[in-house]
Amino acid sequence: MKTKCMMATLLLLVTAVAEADLTDLVDEAVLTQIAAETSGEAAKRNLDTITLQHRMRTGSQFEAATQHIVNMLESYGLDDVRILHYAADGETMFGTQKSRPVWNVRSAELWEVADAGGETKRVRRLGDWSSVPLSLAQDSLSGEATTTLVDVGAGTTAADYAGSDVRGKLVLTSSQPGEVADLAVGEYGAAGIVSYAPNQRSAWWLEDERLVRWGHLDSFPRTKTFAFMISLGEARRLQRRMADGEEIRAGSVVSNLDPRRNYLKLMPSEVLPDDFRGDIERFKIRGSSGKLNIALDRQPRFTAIPDTAPELAQGTITISPNMEYLERGYDDWKRGTWSRRPFLDISVPSTIDPTIAPAGKHMMTVFVQYVPVVPADGGWTPEKRDAFADTVLSTIEEHAPGFRDSIVDLETRTPHELENEVGLTEGNIFHGELTLDQLLFNRPLPGYAQYRGPVKRFYMCGSSTHPGGGVMGAPGYNAAREILMDLKRTAA
Ligand SMILES: Cc1cc2nc3c(=O)[nH]c(=O)nc-3n(C[C@H](O)[C@H](O)[C@H](O)COP(=O)(O)OP(=O)(O)OC[C@H]3O[C@@H](n4cnc5c(N)ncnc54)[C@H](O)[C@@H]3O)c2cc1C
Repeated sequence: MKTKCMMATLLLLVTAVAEADLTDLVDEAVLTQIAAETSGEAAKRNLDTITLQHRMRTGSQFEAATQHIVNMLESYGLDDVRILHYAADGETMFGTQKSRPVWNVRSAELWEVADAGGETKRVRRLGDWSSVPLSLAQDSLSGEATTTLVDVGAGTTAADYAGSDVRGKLVLTSSQPGEVADLAVGEYGAAGIVSYAPNQRSAWWLEDERLVRWGHLDSFPRTKTFAFMISLGEARRLQRRMADGEEIRAGSVVSNLDPRRNYLKLMPSEVLPDDFRGDIERFKIRGSSGKLNIALDRQPRFTAIPDTAPELAQGTITISPNMEYLERGYDDWKRGTWSRRPFLDISVPSTIDPTIAPAGKHMMTVFVQYVPVVPADGGWTPEKRDAFADTVLSTIEEHAPGFRDSIVDLETRTPHELENEVGLTEGNIFHGELTLDQLLFNRPLPGYAQYRGPVKRFYMCGSSTHPGGGVMGAPGYNAAREILMDLKRTAA
């Protein structure tokens, strides 16, 4: 009995102390405000207001978000709220962070358009900065494009672009724009980016497919471009429409693509017998060549060409001094690097056809061996491509002193570009290695050397078939003969 009484007294005492403390410290009205704030409702409202704006330095959105915070603090009774200004010049360091450069947006819209009697008609607005600021990705730069949309999936590896030409088009990606800009725009020449990256996947908004998420490019970009953000739902609708694209029916399909591209990239795997598919996967296709196209201020003078025989400069010039030189060049390739002393096959076609260069200037093409598909120390980068070009230019300089000084412009192609720009798998110029096991009646595969594969009315006519590769037209001629034979058979 006694114990119970003691406990009751103690409890009452504690409660009384607590109440007395709070009302002494905080005004009743403020207390009500704090209760409302901590209920979560006001917090969510504030967060909504702030997160639906871009909080980017100097932009009008940043001002709006900051002003909202000031207003709220003042409404809570704080009377000394000030906004301090710091440099946003892209240079000043704040601790470990460099200040971002100014980013301010005047307007941005993304429209679906249609052709109406030769005129471009706006059909549906997919994004609008003024009503939904997040529909423009942070750090987007000015730009304009009326073009088609290409779905590249994640868009972060070369494989995502295989078989699709995105040059001048908009890419639709599931990645943050900053992750794809260098590849999609810098490397493959896309006009811009549309992203449905689900930022903050783990946050409370989860997979709400109606929301446009915050997206961003880089503040210090290597590739300058713009990007729009659309909701996951909108992206799925667009993807469905793209997948439902017009179906083209044909009696026969004749393709001069390489077998991997034909069968592994363009055809659904279920139409192929498993063993055939396996054989195509094993078909050796490794590329080993590169190319330089060079604009020159003057005609190069090779020391090996005597002044008495200038016509020699009009022919093919090869740098391949001896077998040992070639062998060493090939050894480099086997080790996964380009030949330090490369084999070069050079032409200066402007010596024969002066119309391909301005008067007095010249154009040189250089075919180079050997160049690896992927360097042993990792994928191709612009730096490695430049280093490869430098090796070639230095080699030419050795044989034509002063040549480097005459260079006006230069284009370099490694197997990486040959694959991604022209569609040559692994950059193999012959659509497959010319080894004994892949020639004659084995080209491209034993049992499939007659320009037909396992898919009915699908014919192969390119360099991967006998007697390819090379520029000769014979695979096409032979394939046409086979197709005509089949047509006659079905007509009979
Ligand atoms: C740098 C270089 C130097 C060469 N030098 C010589 C030489 O000196 N002598 C010689 O005989 N041969 C040479 N070749 C090889 C020769 O060019 C090829 O063997 C020949 O062009 C192959 O002809 P093709 O019709 O089979 O295929 P290609 O000429 O490769 O044509 C295939 C076409 O299909 C397109 N394509 C790819 N994917 C798709 C897709 N998904 N949808 C639609 N189109 C697609 C490609 O863009 C390409 O236009 C060289 C090749 C290169 C790259």
